[in-house]
Amino acid sequence: MIPDLKANEVWFLTGSQDLYGEDTLRQVAEQSQDVVDQLNASSDIPVTIVWKPVVKDSEAIRRAMIDANSAENVVGVIAWMHTFSPAKMWIRGLDALAKPFLHLHTQANVELPWAEIDFDFMNLNQAAHGDREFGYIAGRMNIPRKTVVGHVSNPAVAVQVGTWTRAASGAAAVRNLKLARFGDNMRNVAVTEGDKTEAEIRFGVSVNTWGVNELVERVDAASESDVDDLIAVYLEAYDVVPELKPDGARHESLRYGAKIELGLRSFLEEGGFSAFTTNFEDLGGLRQLPGLAVQRLMADGYGFGGEGDWKTSVLIRAAKVMGAGLPGGASLMEDYTYNLVPGEESILGAHMLEICPSLTTKKPSLEIHALGIGGREDPVRLVFDTDAGAGVVVALSDMRDRFRLTANVVEVIDLPAPLPHLPVARAVWKPAPDLATSATAWITAGAAHHTVLSTAVGIEAWEDFAEITRTELLIIDENTTKRGFANDVKWNAAYYRLAQGI
Ligand code: MN
Repeated sequence: MIPDLKANEVWFLTGSQDLYGEDTLRQVAEQSQDVVDQLNASSDIPVTIVWKPVVKDSEAIRRAMIDANSAENVVGVIAWMHTFSPAKMWIRGLDALAKPFLHLHTQANVELPWAEIDFDFMNLNQAAHGDREFGYIAGRMNIPRKTVVGHVSNPAVAVQVGTWTRAASGAAAVRNLKLARFGDNMRNVAVTEGDKTEAEIRFGVSVNTWGVNELVERVDAASESDVDDLIAVYLEAYDVVPELKPDGARHESLRYGAKIELGLRSFLEEGGFSAFTTNFEDLGGLRQLPGLAVQRLMADGYGFGGEGDWKTSVLIRAAKVMGAGLPGGASLMEDYTYNLVPGEESILGAHMLEICPSLTTKKPSLEIHALGIGGREDPVRLVFDTDAGAGVVVALSDMRDRFRLTANVVEVIDLPAPLPHLPVARAVWKPAPDLATSATAWITAGAAHHTVLSTAVGIEAWEDFAEITRTELLIIDENTTKRGFANDVKWNAAYYRLAQGI
């Protein structure tokens, strides 16, 4: 369910023109192939960069962009003007391009060969102004893009390119995403509502609802032998509490939890869904609120939102794809309660049940506890502490005239003290720049209480994702001030309304 990003291609276009003669153009081709080889050799770049023959005129550029658009596995295009590629040649191609775009501003050599520079060298190595000519047309045409500057041997260049390819892969996954909602939103909740039609226009995601009893039919139809096999998996993967073990008094509850997983999986797989939502107010014939099943499906790469929150489910799917192969994980999260001790301010995040075990490297505990919400039998769930480390929490709000992403850079910390009575998985983090500024900014932005906590990819991937999808992004990090942030919100309101046109 989490794709191998190596199957995704990013095409590398090198711009030049016929002016320079065969010898120079041969060197342009060789040197750009060398740049591509170095990018592909970097462990920071998860996709396959594909070198394309040097483009020298408007029709070749347009053709390359149209081919990139129509190739299913191409998630983006990189361009570099090795020499000087007059930028009016790029207008028709950029106008046609419908895939994410990165402008790599680099050159073949690191050091200037001071003693040997002649004008042949100058002719060949003029990206310093060739890329500025290109930047003009991309800027004038308002092409969404990332600009990366530096020699390809500089690790920071590969990191930036690699992060962008992750964001492009996430955006591609969302563009093809089918999301199943079991039931509607939790009644009267505001922020989980949203314009599903606009989401399909903006992000490509298809969001539709099924009656929960269609799921219940599959849960009830799960075979006992499939349940036996899944129980064996649980016993291996988790510390199962004695009462849930095969000889335990409440083993039947775990068997029903396994049936929910089997039913959910078969429904999602057969429908081609990579994300879903549930709602504890609409459980139909389900005997337990899905907990363990949702946790395990998220760990496999499915997007998920509780209480019908399809927008957060989309974000989690995006985070799963962007973080493919990296340490850390991504999960639904909810700011639950605070530690307000001066100097130790932190946020305890959790949910009723559905926190993804990709956030821990330790063995989760598989437990059963009462749950007042939902009015059903006690649900089985995984309980664990999230690993300490860097992270980012991201929310998606529908502001009526646009979608708004809000992201807060956080530091997940070790639990200051054990939580022996808290029967759910959790994370504790310190938000940047401090809790008071972070929460003021978050609330000023109207950002949601459901988030994705991502510990695999950081803020730069979300910046790239926002640029690719042309979505507003408000960032709360170590540089945020309350006054500056409030102004950002106002300026953005003006910008995004103007940018939409009439
Ligand atoms: Mn919730």
